[in-house]
Amino acid sequence: MSPSCSLRYRMIYLDNNSTTKIDPAVLAEVMPILNGPPSNPSSVHRLGQEARARVAGATKQIAAHFGVKTKEVVFTSGATEALNVVIRSVPSGLHIITSSLEHIAVLEAVKLTGCTVTYLDPEPGKGAITAAQIAAALQPNTAMIVVMAANNETGVKTDLEPIAALAEEKRIALVVDGVAQVGKEPFTLYPGISALCLSGHKIHAPQGIGVAIIRSRFPARPLIVGGPQQRGVRGGTENVAGIVGLAKALEFTTDVAHLRDRLEAGLRSKLSDVVVHGENAPRVGNVSNMAFPGVEGEWLLMQLDLAGIAVSHGAACSSGALEPSRVLLNMGIAPKLARSSIRFSLSRFTTEAEIDRTIETVVKLTSQAS
Ligand code: PLP
Repeated sequence: MSPSCSLRYRMIYLDNNSTTKIDPAVLAEVMPILNGPPSNPSSVHRLGQEARARVAGATKQIAAHFGVKTKEVVFTSGATEALNVVIRSVPSGLHIITSSLEHIAVLEAVKLTGCTVTYLDPEPGKGAITAAQIAAALQPNTAMIVVMAANNETGVKTDLEPIAALAEEKRIALVVDGVAQVGKEPFTLYPGISALCLSGHKIHAPQGIGVAIIRSRFPARPLIVGGPQQRGVRGGTENVAGIVGLAKALEFTTDVAHLRDRLEAGLRSKLSDVVVHGENAPRVGNVSNMAFPGVEGEWLLMQLDLAGIAVSHGAACSSGALEPSRVLLNMGIAPKLARSSIRFSLSRFTTEAEIDRTIETVVKLTSQAS
């Protein structure tokens, strides 16, 4: 084992919204494929047929999981690609409604559509936009709404049911970024949802596999053209091991709210001024984004890293940047408080002992800082 590898495994890993450890049950499905004979699902020989059967089986399983048809399951390299293919299917010159809290993949994709875009900010104190805000922003040519099921930085959930009902009533495509919610709690694919985008590596499957559930009524235009795979919606040889791993990973949903609550209660009992962002909003159970007033979040992240605890200061893509989190600022949080914030994101592999050690370490470090 290389030194970096052993170091990695000694870490207390509380950065699961960046990526997750592969579940042993997923690995057990994936490894025989990676170790096995070469097999391309498009090949006519028996190895190809076996691979094709594996992909078909996993597709069937995922379709059943979400209650959709197998032809509505499109595999991609991850959520970024899934969001791109769906969002960039919208005809140009129309209108899109989204929020200022979305992942950068959404914000960059909508820019390329040639549509006008309304970016809604959440109401003060809330961490998500509402159906009422969307209804008020509708224009005669609104063609698409893009929202996240839960925010990856705060865990705050969007109330999707009324948004889906509105989209259905107005016959507007609703695209849901399900990355931060699926796998944490049961997800309902409301009839008004036209597309759902996910990444395998956020739910204990390997990196490099994602899925877009695209309802038949949604006219998806391929983003990646090539071979006739996946009915032409996404060309290229399928990632067989990734697809099988993703199907397995979707079997598990683990709520770790008790561990998040333990972390928040433990820190609060010792540090009276801790602020939990989105505390009063419905949240998924695996995230706590907390401000430690008077402490630089970037400094705390680095000190925790040295102490063997991996956390994040905002979204992974912007880690290392010194500016405060855009999501926190757009929630109306003061820049100084946003700058002193840390995201702890837990998984089903997080233990109580790790939470207790984290509480102890944060308390020690913040008292040194002040
Ligand atoms: N959406 C959300 C909410 C995310 O947190 C992420 C990744 O952090 C993505 C989309 C993009 O996922 P990926 O980088 O796996 O494509």
